[in-house]
Amino acid sequence: MNILVVGGAGYIGSHAVRVLIEAGHRVTVFDNLSRGHREAVPMGLLVEGELTDTQFVRETLERYEIEAVMHFAAFALVNESVNDPSLYYQNNVIATLSLLDAMRLAGVKKFVFSSTTATYGEPEIVPIRETTPQKPINPYGFTKLVIEQALADYSQAYGLGYAALRYFNAAGAHPDGSIGEDHDPESHLIPIVLQVALGQREQITVFGDDYQTPDGTCVRDYVHVNDLADAHLRALNRLEPGKGLCLNLGTGHGTSVREIINACRKVTGHPIPEEMGPRREGDPSELVADACLAKEVLGWEPKYTDVQSIVETAWRWHQSHPQGYATH
Ligand code: UDP
Repeated sequence: MNILVVGGAGYIGSHAVRVLIEAGHRVTVFDNLSRGHREAVPMGLLVEGELTDTQFVRETLERYEIEAVMHFAAFALVNESVNDPSLYYQNNVIATLSLLDAMRLAGVKKFVFSSTTATYGEPEIVPIRETTPQKPINPYGFTKLVIEQALADYSQAYGLGYAALRYFNAAGAHPDGSIGEDHDPESHLIPIVLQVALGQREQITVFGDDYQTPDGTCVRDYVHVNDLADAHLRALNRLEPGKGLCLNLGTGHGTSVREIINACRKVTGHPIPEEMGPRREGDPSELVADACLAKEVLGWEPKYTDVQSIVETAWRWHQSHPQGYATH
């Protein structure tokens, strides 16, 4: 298939590009490089542009005879979304609606969308099922939920076939170490802990140890980025006109902040000093997926089932790219 990967220069998108190419698809990447990295895109595949330029997106879809779109381009930091909601509604909602309009104009009817566990807010029952009420608690979660709703409506009215894949905590890097996570500033747990191991930070601050969890620190479901990419590939093959799939993508296993730090100590051999800090605002204590539906519908099962193997791939990337893409 000819596939447009929007946001293919970003963390998850760039891994999806690799998986799609390996599966024999013809990939074009559309990205404005505002947060993505040119170096993460294989030579010759990048089209630079803005999603809000509906006409240009339409032309791109037609020029490359695109049959399906995967949409990874979004801002995804909870704190930032609270401080600057306009940025999030513009980039995650307005730009996505423009992309969907361009697809309608070009007659492209297959769409895989990056959604998120943040659409669930603070669920009362864990593990989280797809039927768990979606009640976001921050603008980021709302922007993703707005698009899920738009997709359901567009699907009914215009025959769009779509999948909304609700990621839990994306982690790790391509096992060959050539692409990985590179955010500026970095706010995610595993990269920050590994920056301590690289000597770039003094210590890791644990955001609270008074949660109602076994060791008091927050529990998350860390899922390998290549497993996420694999789920996208499978979802693509299950799309049906006028129908939507909403699926959780997680391993079903929870890992605490403390367990992540210990896994990083084992993998790196570095003592990784830690200090205890206050809770980070808006952090639910436990977010773990019930991933049965993705298994049932897509036949998807994560290959990386323990966090140590996920951290090993991240460590390979960070060691070979201590400054991220900037060094290459
Ligand atoms: N975390 C932490 N210290 C940090 C960064 C993150 O203790 O410097 C915790 C955070 O409170 C959360 C978990 O690590 O419980 C994962 O956070 P991350 O930002 O990686 O992902 P999120 O769960 O916010 O999507």
